[in-house]
Amino acid sequence: MAKGRIEVATERCKGCGLCIKACPLDLLELDPHSLNKKGYQPMRIHTPEKCIGCAHCAIMCPDVVITVYRLDNSK
Ligand code: SF4
Ligand code: SF4
Repeated sequence: MAKGRIEVATERCKGCGLCIKACPLDLLELDPHSLNKKGYQPMRIHTPEKCIGCAHCAIMCPDVVITVYRLDNSK
């Protein structure tokens, strides 16, 4: 299984949740313990070690908050 990693530009997130629905492994959630400067609960990944780098979350985000890195195991 491919491995991936995401970075979230937390301060730009508006907490819309579209990325959460897009993740096939259900790894994303709105952080119940923080608010960003815009006053939204930002998205976070609760189980980062399971990310497969599919980028569905990043494609769905209307505000380009998520950057996906794919870790190539074949090298
Ligand atoms: S890259 Fe894929 S597996 Fe990883 S958090 Fe985004 S949607 Fe989920
Ligand atoms: S789709 Fe983008 S703006 Fe919406 S919750 Fe996810 S990261 Fe935040």
